[in-house]
Amino acid sequence: MERYAYIESEMAQLRETGLYINLRVMESPADAWMVVDGQRVLNLCTNNYLGLANDPRLKQAAREAVDTWGVGPAAVRSIAGTQSLHVELERRLAAFKGVEDALYVQSGFCANQAVIPVLVGRDRATGEQDVIFSDQLNHASIIDGARLSGARIVVYQHCDVADLERVIQEHLPNHRRGLLVTDGVFSMDGDIAPLDELYRVAEKYGVLTMVDDAHGEGVLGGGKGIVHEFGLQGCFDIEMGTLSKAFGVVGGVVAGAKTVIDYLRQRARPFLFSSAVTPADTAACLAAVDVLEESTELVERLWENAAYLKAGLADLGFDTGRSQTPIIPVMVGDAAVAADFSQRLFEAGVFAMAIGFPTVPRGKARIRVMNTAAHSREDLDVGLDAFRRVGRELGLI
Ligand SMILES: *Cc1c(COP(=O)(O)O)cnc(C)c1O
Repeated sequence: MERYAYIESEMAQLRETGLYINLRVMESPADAWMVVDGQRVLNLCTNNYLGLANDPRLKQAAREAVDTWGVGPAAVRSIAGTQSLHVELERRLAAFKGVEDALYVQSGFCANQAVIPVLVGRDRATGEQDVIFSDQLNHASIIDGARLSGARIVVYQHCDVADLERVIQEHLPNHRRGLLVTDGVFSMDGDIAPLDELYRVAEKYGVLTMVDDAHGEGVLGGGKGIVHEFGLQGCFDIEMGTLSKAFGVVGGVVAGAKTVIDYLRQRARPFLFSSAVTPADTAACLAAVDVLEESTELVERLWENAAYLKAGLADLGFDTGRSQTPIIPVMVGDAAVAADFSQRLFEAGVFAMAIGFPTVPRGKARIRVMNTAAHSREDLDVGLDAFRRVGRELGLI
C-alpha cells in the first residue's frame, strides 16, 4: 500500500543488509536445552545466568502467590498497587545490595526511565540544564532515559577514565549538575567498567554517580553485583539493575540512599503511571533473593562454565573480544555472515544469536554466547563441537 511504502522500503533494506530480526519461537521453558521452532537445541542465548528461570523454588513461590494474591495488582503503585510483597521485596533488595532503600519497577528498561529523568534534566523556569556523562557503549535503556530527561548528553570514550575527566572539565562548569552513568558489564562485549577509577573522577568533581548492573547482579561480587566486586558499597548514588536476567524473573530495581529512593516514589513516571508488577513475579523475585543469599554455589558454577567455554572457543581460534564475564562475543564482522553462522549453528542443534547493528556498531557483528549455571560440561562440549564444525565451514577458523 502506498501509505506504508516507506515502511516496506525500510524493511527491504533491513533484509538486504542482514539486519532483519527473525523471531524464533520458544516452545519450552528457558533452560540449558530448549525446544525452539520445533527443534530441541542447546541454548546459549538467554540471560538466565544462574538457571533460575525454571527453578522449582521460584515456580513454587509464584504458584503460592497466585493462590494468595490472585494474578494482577489492578493498579499503579501510587494508587492501590503497592502490595506488601512489593514492600518486602524492596526491603530485601536493599539489604542484599547493602544500601538504605530500593525501588522495584516493571523492568530494567523502566528503571532507567524511572530514575534518570528524576535526577537530572532542564529547569523549565530558568532554562538551566544538567549534563549526563555517558559511556559510548551504554545500553539503549540508559540512552533513552537520558534523552527523556532533557539534560545535555555528553558521551565519553568507552571505559576511558581520562576522557571522562576531560569531558567533565569541559562541560560541568556550564551546567547545573552532572551525572555519570555507565553499564557495569557491557552486554554486547562482556567487558567490565573500571568502576573504582570512574568513581574517583566523579567524586573529584562532585558529579552524581549511577551504574547499570543488569549483567552484574547474580554474576559479579559473589552474586551481589559489580559494586560489591569493586568493594564500593554505598559509594554510588544509584545502582540500577534487573530481575529479568540472573534473578530469572522480571522487573527492575533502583537502589540507593533513602532520600533518593523516597523521592523516586513521588516522581518516577513508570512507578506513578504504569501498573505494579504481578504478585507471582514479585514472589518469585523474593525466592530468587533467598537462593542468592543462601549460597554462592550457582554463581561459582556459572563462572566455571564460562571459563571452560571461553577457553574452548579461543582454542578453536575464535576471537572472543574483550570479554571478562560469562558474556562471550564470538566476533564475526559482517552482519550477513553472522546471521548465516547463527542459522548453521541452529541446524547443528545449537541456539546462539547473531547480533548486528544497531545493537552493536556496523561491521562488528558477532555471535553472542551465554552459558548458564544449568549447563553441564557435556552440554558445553556439544556447543564447542558445533562451533568447530560451522566455523570451519564458513572459513572463520
Ligand atoms: C537487559 C538490560 C536492561 C533492561 O533490563 P530488562 O529488565 O530486560 O528491561 C537494562 N540495562 C542493561 C545494561 C541491560 O543489559
